[in-house]
Amino acid sequence: MNPAANSSFDAHEQIVEINDDALGLSAFIGIHSTALGPAAGGCRLTTYPSADAALTDVLRLSRGMTYKNAMADLPMGGGKAVIYRAPADRQKMFERMGEEIEKLGGRYVTAEDVGVGVADAKAMARHTSYVAGLPKEGDHAGGDPSPWTALGVFVCIQSLLGEMNGKRIAVQGIGAVGYNLCKLLVEEGVKLVAADVCKENADKAAAIGAEIVPVERIHAVEADVFAPCALGAGLNAQTIPELGAPIICGAANNQLATEEDDNRLLALGVTYAPDYIVNAGGIINVSAEYLGETADLVEKRVRAIAPRLMMVMDQARREGIPASEVADRIVRRKLAEARRA
Ligand code: NAD
Repeated sequence: MNPAANSSFDAHEQIVEINDDALGLSAFIGIHSTALGPAAGGCRLTTYPSADAALTDVLRLSRGMTYKNAMADLPMGGGKAVIYRAPADRQKMFERMGEEIEKLGGRYVTAEDVGVGVADAKAMARHTSYVAGLPKEGDHAGGDPSPWTALGVFVCIQSLLGEMNGKRIAVQGIGAVGYNLCKLLVEEGVKLVAADVCKENADKAAAIGAEIVPVERIHAVEADVFAPCALGAGLNAQTIPELGAPIICGAANNQLATEEDDNRLLALGVTYAPDYIVNAGGIINVSAEYLGETADLVEKRVRAIAPRLMMVMDQARREGIPASEVADRIVRRKLAEARRA
């Protein structure tokens, strides 16, 4: 396989292909950039229609981590791992991933992502020290990153809306981040509307007062804010004209299906808060854990996401362009400066 021939290849520094037929493991590790520090981003375990689709995903995700980490002012570059053929022996699989990550000598730092939990991170940690997302110890940062991601989304919504009491907010996906976000919103007197493909998760939102709507309709519900917290590509040519909220601000990665969707939203007067600015809370926690910093720094940095978002939104309004364009420009400048230095 030639990663450079993939249309999502963006001058990635390194792509590691792992094919262990004896174990039944196939995976990619993508290192997009180490200009600002070790390439940090989680390890994802999911199914793909082909090895090429897994490669495309690792390329998109690792580039996204470069942008997210740079925008959050973290001393980290961007990387990601994707496992697309998994053996039954989960422990051996993650130990093997740990060995591969160790061979990179610190150029890539991993953590949990979709399909990968704390036990898996611990298995990797038996063979490498370049792993975060491990249980918290004492005053040190660590543990589950999703409450931090939720706090970051919450402070962004708060800045965009001002007063929250009585406002109606539609949350798509009541998983680790979505549920934590719902709890924070309810405390502020928000009228919650929620949807999840998993009934058990939707029931959790209902138990804290959310009105539950069908998953196919959540984006179209009349609300003050729509918060996508499920999977990517939810904002697309079909859903954008049906949107029921004037503001989009949520945790899901890669919310826009294509680059044109940004301009579609702008043309309709919908305010879109770029996902990689809003959802940086988790990686801020992971980065602090990896660098051995204390937990109190994490909250301060997560709350700083909101003024950063507002600075980008204001600039985009002044220029009449999508906020993502302003954010991408800021990141490209930071990367160019780091490379020059
Ligand atoms: P999760 O798997 O815990 O939750 C996702 C939820 O979405 C699940 O409850 C699932 O049933 C639901 N869902 C899936 N498809 C849906 C659909 N079509 N409609 C409605 N609900 C649907 O994941 P998470 O950790 O909460 O992450 C949510 C999103 O935020 C993901 O896109 C993730 O990449 C992104 N994100 C998460 C973190 C983090 O700290 N966990 C950090 C940054 C970004």
